[in-house]
Amino acid sequence: MIKLKSKREIQLMRDAGKIVAEVLQEMEKTIDAGVTTAKLNKIAEKRIRSYSAEPAFLGYHNFPASICTSINSEVVHGIPGLRRLEEGDIISIDVGVRLKGYHGDAAATFAVGEVTPQARKLMDVTRTSLQEAIKATQAGNRLSDISHAVQAYVEKNSLSVVRNYVGHGIGEDMHEEPQVPNFGQPGRGPALQQGIVLAIEPMVNIGSWEVKVLDDQWTVVTADGSLSAHFEHTVALGNNGPEILTSSDLV
Ligand code: MG
Repeated sequence: MIKLKSKREIQLMRDAGKIVAEVLQEMEKTIDAGVTTAKLNKIAEKRIRSYSAEPAFLGYHNFPASICTSINSEVVHGIPGLRRLEEGDIISIDVGVRLKGYHGDAAATFAVGEVTPQARKLMDVTRTSLQEAIKATQAGNRLSDISHAVQAYVEKNSLSVVRNYVGHGIGEDMHEEPQVPNFGQPGRGPALQQGIVLAIEPMVNIGSWEVKVLDDQWTVVTADGSLSAHFEHTVALGNNGPEILTSSDLV
């Protein structure tokens, strides 16, 4: 069942979303060659807790960190650790925050110094596919119009959309119904209506869409070793169309 949110609930999620956006901005400032992902995790957790909020990923199905850090061919769910960023890497950072019982969830992919034109294109296309998806989040549209918007834009640019992981409803639980795939025919699924809040999160690969999970049971990587990018926003459908609750200048 899709739980539509009241204005009061959306305000709480806006508050959580602001923290998420601020953490991602801090990550962007901190990312540099030589920095470990453990350091990014520590800084993110400290910032989240400074607002008396909680890192929503920490302990979620026993996930051992406060953020996910996924480098290069890692798609999502990378675990922060002692790995140091290198010039030319791309790193996807996913941040989830719980504040007063409500969640915000967003992700962005960042360049470490100079990256290849292919990596730059991957990041640009993924970011824009999220914007296309948000534009499709309109009352009267159906859920799969969002999915289709992502796939159409990504494939027009000769890149691939990951199939095995999807966006989701969000609220009192980080993952609620409905699932929001990043591919599919338009005009299917439930009609979008005011009060729906979705975490929309295209994951895009340069090579094939296929992925696998590493032995750590968390890190998802591209099956062919190609680069992958991930952008995500928590989006509420209100009176005046879609509102990005995790807004920042990164996406
Ligand atoms: Mg999410």
